[in-house]
Amino acid sequence: MVSRVIPVEPFDLVIFGGTGDLARRKILPGLYRRFVAGQMPKEARIIGAARSDLDTAGYRKMIHEAIHEFIAEKDRDETLVQEFCKGLEYVTIDAMGEGGWKEMAALIRQDVIGAFYFSVAPSLFGALAERLHLHGISNDTSRIVVEKPFGRDLETARELNAVLAEHFEESQIYRIDHYLGKETVQNLMAVRFANVLFEPLWNAQYIDHIQITAAETVGVGGRGGYYDKSGAMRDMVQNHLMQLLCLTAMEPPSKFEPNAVRDEKLKVIRSLEPVEPHHIVRGQYDAHEGEPSYREDAGDLKSRTDSFVAMKCHVANWRWAGVPFYLRTGKKLADRASEIVVVFKEPPHHVFDADGKVHRNVLSIKLQPNEGMNLSVTIKEPGPGGMRLMDVPLDMSFAETLGDNADAVPEAYERLIMDVIRGNQTLFMRGDEVEAAWSWVDPIIQGWEARNDVPKTYDVGSQGPTDAETMMRRDGREWMDIKA
Ligand code: NAD
Repeated sequence: MVSRVIPVEPFDLVIFGGTGDLARRKILPGLYRRFVAGQMPKEARIIGAARSDLDTAGYRKMIHEAIHEFIAEKDRDETLVQEFCKGLEYVTIDAMGEGGWKEMAALIRQDVIGAFYFSVAPSLFGALAERLHLHGISNDTSRIVVEKPFGRDLETARELNAVLAEHFEESQIYRIDHYLGKETVQNLMAVRFANVLFEPLWNAQYIDHIQITAAETVGVGGRGGYYDKSGAMRDMVQNHLMQLLCLTAMEPPSKFEPNAVRDEKLKVIRSLEPVEPHHIVRGQYDAHEGEPSYREDAGDLKSRTDSFVAMKCHVANWRWAGVPFYLRTGKKLADRASEIVVVFKEPPHHVFDADGKVHRNVLSIKLQPNEGMNLSVTIKEPGPGGMRLMDVPLDMSFAETLGDNADAVPEAYERLIMDVIRGNQTLFMRGDEVEAAWSWVDPIIQGWEARNDVPKTYDVGSQGPTDAETMMRRDGREWMDIKA
């Protein structure tokens, strides 16, 4: 299979926060990969901008080291790494002051696409937007990319939207959610809307329930103080899990076109019923074999912040009436595994003698660590001795299907940045989507705060608090095992 790489138009991409963790770990290594893939035209320029007192040579060295640290040796070509780094520029800039802005204005070309990635704290978004405008750096065709967290509740999200809207149109604002850049997430849409096989079954008549899991093995480590102000609900559910739920539950858009897709996602969020308190389990990981507990990591031994959430929700519309969506996310769990699992109903009538086992088709869409899809199908167990049934997987792992070309599948960040340059907002969250998601999440968090809710503890490396399993069992169902 030959992969097609179409170079994008020439651009100036400024990465504010270009010396930060995200820029070094994800953004610049991702851009290097697009450079190697031949997607960047010669005239493209990448400019790091941050408060750090560096010159361009120092920045090139920093990014050279970052590429060595975050891209495996087998995927690196030293000549290309050096060529890529030679093209980088750097400007020391103060988002809140005047330092560096004249230099930036002199550097940015007005006749190519200008993209400005705000990889800084959200408290700087307004100042950056304003200065880009005041110094005549941005124009009507410029794009800004903003990172999560987009607010911590509805009010702050509205404020951020308003601040950005003072200087940029909605069509220029790219709110990034890297889950949407994953190959399988887009494949979910292809599977649903480019095949006749699934869509007729994609409803309450044939689907028993859906599970969406994003499990991590890492704890909050060094970011404990920051995380403690947020928690799993704000950090994962409001954005990533909600986006996955939307893509799973949405109606077919009339076209695969940004506003058509985002209109359908918005309808899903607006259809979500409020969640009953007994349909949510919050958790915190406990100390384990010398490793600190969540509370120790957070630096607050009385912290009530959730490092785990499991919940049951309902999309109140004709298609999904009565079908529960179970969401689950947490840190320090058994494995690093993110997946969407669609569990179909049992056949309405048992033709074969019951063997005591429940046989159901299950479609699982794996997002992490190995992207791929798997559909379990019930067949006859081979051999004589009657009609025994077994479930076998129809497997489609991208690595196997695409062979040598699997490496050509871009990672989420690189794909999304190229979409920004192409001006394609389909995989970015619109302002009203983000606000609608907060409108649904806010009352849940406010309920916890009002009740002084204390999270349940769970063992490091486990499946989460036992209450999460009990919640499922009450419904006569079981969570899929958290395993990669
Ligand atoms: P970081 O603290 O490592 O880096 C912050 C960057 O901002 C540095 O380059 C710093 O020089 C710059 N900066 C700070 N104040 C500035 C100012 N006044 N003017 C100009 N530059 C200034 O942060 P990070 O981890 O890279 O995160 C950046 C943003 O991305 C944050 O909003 C974060 O929430 C978000 N994010 C980070 C990750 C991640 O994995 N690191 C993941 C998702 C989202």
